[in-house]
This record gives sequence, C-alpha cells and structure tokens, in this order.
Amino acid sequence: MPGCPPTSKNLLDALTALISGKPFDLPEKSVCDQCSKVKQDKHIKEFHRTHEGHIDPSKCLLDQGYLCLGFATIGLCGAICPNVNTPCKGCFGPVIRVRDHGAKIISALGAVAEMEPDKLRESFPDPIGSFYFTDYAASYLSRIRAETRRKKKK
Ligand code: SF4
Ligand code: SF4
Repeated sequence: MPGCPPTSKNLLDALTALISGKPFDLPEKSVCDQCSKVKQDKHIKEFHRTHEGHIDPSKCLLDQGYLCLGFATIGLCGAICPNVNTPCKGCFGPVIRVRDHGAKIISALGAVAEMEPDKLRESFPDPIGSFYFTDYAASYLSRIRAETRRKKKK
C-alpha cells in the first residue's frame, strides 16, 4: 500500500478487495483534484521554504511558490496536507501511468517556473529528497546510477 502511512480507508478498501477476491482499482485522480484551494495559471518566479513568507490559505500553494507535489501524486489521501496548508510531499507516489515520479515533477516545474535553470536548480538544495520523497529506489535515475556503478566495478 502506498502512503506514509496509508489511510484507514485505503487499508479497509484493499483488505476488503483481498478477502473478497475483487480487484482494487487505483483512482485516476491526483491530489490536486481533491484539494479545495483555488488554482490559477502558474507563473512561478520564486520558490519558498514552507516556513518562509505568509501562506494564503485560499490559494494553491504551488501558485504561491511552495513546492506542493499534488499535481503529480495519486489522489488517495483526500489532500490532507494541502487542506491544512502543508505542501504535498508526494508520499503516495505518482499518478497512474507515470513511471517516474521525480521526472514528472521536474518536467512540470520546468514548464511553470519562470526563472533561469541555475536559479531553479539552486531553489532545491536536496533534489532527491524534494522530488523523490518515497520512491527514489523505483526511479530511472536510481537504476541508471546503480547500472553505472556496476559497470565501473567490472
Ligand atoms: S495546493 Fe497543492 S494539491 Fe492543492 S491545487 Fe495546489 S498543487 Fe494541487
Ligand atoms: S497530501 Fe501528499 S504528502 Fe500529504 S498524505 Fe497526501 S500524498 Fe502524502
């Protein structure tokens, strides 16, 4: 089960499916689809740490420059973090049909962040922790690094 931790409803649904022998279908929705905040077209000029600035509780956190990963994260939790003004860290893993969570996040940020690549890179001193909170081991990046290390040892 994904999630850190999975919700009691997720566990109940999964165990019920297991016991009854029925499939447990994952939702097509993302955390953004479950979030009550007002979303706008994104033109992010600066990223903030969660403790910096003042969060407007009515507006999308990502629009305000907080790294909220709800757009790339499967909607299984009811958006519990953004609904209390805490950015989603992506703990439930990627939305359906996305194989690499971090790659999806990096590509989306590149499209909405209006800043030079160097400034964007400097905004995230811990990119693995920021973009692959729970699923680095399953990423293409992790596999490429493991493969490179294996070749060097030969
Ligand atoms: S606050 Fe986060 S979860 Fe809510 S709409 Fe914005 S990016 Fe999506
Ligand atoms: S909002 Fe994001 S970080 Fe919070 S529980 Fe849901 S998936 Fe995990």
